[in-house]
Amino acid sequence: MRVGTFLALYNSDSLRKCIVMHELSIAQNIVEIIQQRIPEPGWKQVTAVRVKIGAVAGIVPDSLKFSFQAITAESALCNARLITEQIPFRVHCRTCNTTTENEDGFSMCGECESTDIQVLSGTELHVVEIELEETEQVL
Ligand SMILES: [Zn+2]
Repeated sequence: MRVGTFLALYNSDSLRKCIVMHELSIAQNIVEIIQQRIPEPGWKQVTAVRVKIGAVAGIVPDSLKFSFQAITAESALCNARLITEQIPFRVHCRTCNTTTENEDGFSMCGECESTDIQVLSGTELHVVEIELEETEQVL
């Protein structure tokens, strides 16, 4: 499902709720990724989590930040900030052999408008970095 497209077409309350649910489950996945890298006893040291979000991934960064805050508020991750960066939607055209960035997310070449393209980036979400506070050694 392309959530971004749905948002533009039907801006209803029930749909907005469904989109928040979508971001909520992604936020839950991010917490699971943190758990895999840094087991829970270390969570207090996590100060920030940096994620890259594809421009057409169907994820609203503000909703994702809100969801992440909501599910970590009661945990040792409550001090962790979610930092989002956007990955542009880039396509490579097999007709004219150029690579273009396509801001509106249409699956066609920005140069010659051919639809014989390969999507290079813009549909993914990556957790790229987990920032940790330095531990103070108490002797
Ligand atoms: Zn082209």
